[in-house]
Amino acid sequence: PETGAPSRRKTVPALSYELYPPRSAASTESLLQTIEALAPTVPDYVSVTAAVDPQRRVQSMALLSHLIFETPLRPLAHVLCTGVTEMQLRELIHELLDLGVRGILALRGDRDPAVEPGPEELPFARHLVDLIRSVERGRAAQLCAGNVSIGVAAYPIKHPESTSVHQDLEVLLAKQRAGADFAITQLYPEADDYAAFVSRARRAGVELPIIPGIMPVTSLRRYLRICDLAGLEPDPLLAHELETADSDAERHRIGVRSAVHSARAALDSGAPGLHLYTFNQHEAALDVLEQLDLPRPTPSAGLAGLIPASQPADG
Ligand code: FAD
Repeated sequence: PETGAPSRRKTVPALSYELYPPRSAASTESLLQTIEALAPTVPDYVSVTAAVDPQRRVQSMALLSHLIFETPLRPLAHVLCTGVTEMQLRELIHELLDLGVRGILALRGDRDPAVEPGPEELPFARHLVDLIRSVERGRAAQLCAGNVSIGVAAYPIKHPESTSVHQDLEVLLAKQRAGADFAITQLYPEADDYAAFVSRARRAGVELPIIPGIMPVTSLRRYLRICDLAGLEPDPLLAHELETADSDAERHRIGVRSAVHSARAALDSGAPGLHLYTFNQHEAALDVLEQLDLPRPTPSAGLAGLIPASQPADG
């Protein structure tokens, strides 16, 4: 249950949404409606997921182009180390910068731990942060220093391949040293996992803004699949509530309530913003925002957010 306690926050928290590239004409249409519905909330950026499959990579690029040229939104492009050589990654980073992308979420991507990375593949996300900074330095004449903002992943619950939560913090520190600007968390089952993680991270020397990743979970099947992919134990109470709900409207209400609870706990503990995993649907995300009563800038004012404005290359 919500406490209704007034928040002591004075600044406007950052807000972002995660979208994935659509696979069909019908899902493209519904994504366009979602983008239109989310834009008036003036997000600081909208992140676009990446995949190893080359066809999906083309679709991610198309969505990034759409955001840059057809909307007022700033994109954050997810980029993965897996499945591509360092040379291909370098080309991709140039391509993104030429397009006008100024925010990159540097990720390793999922990899079978039993399989060694290819000899020309970057082994870890930290190396991708290094590579992005090196490309940025090489384009110093075009990009002012610090003009590319780099996000990285952070794990309130131990990453399945890590030996300990201590290793997760060492890895996050290494990404910070390589030049990351902020971190977005993986899902976490308990509302207070975020505050506990941030406090461990601060004690370990992590100074990056850490943005909680919040997912309004309105489908049990999807929730279990995401938990499985991320190597997380589902929250048994939430899973039970979703399983026994007797309508989509009820599941929607449960998912929104749970997301609001987590988001409010994170904001009250000092989170600098919220990153909402939307599944390309706007209804739950907008309901979460409405219930949080999150202050937003007016569309014309904009926000000095985490990512500089897009600047497509001339010609
Ligand atoms: P890393 O930081 O490289 O860490 C991966 C593992 O390697 C960890 O266990 C870490 O402890 C270990 N490690 C790191 N460095 C070392 C080292 N030097 N020596 C030994 N071990 C080390 N996946 C997608 O496919 N597409 C997406 O769009 C996508 N978006 C995401 C967005 C967010 C916000 C998050 C949190 C995750 C996302 N993922 C996505 C999932 C992500 O790719 C996986 O969690 C992946 O397994 C790890 O990525 P990472 O960037 O954290 O990797």
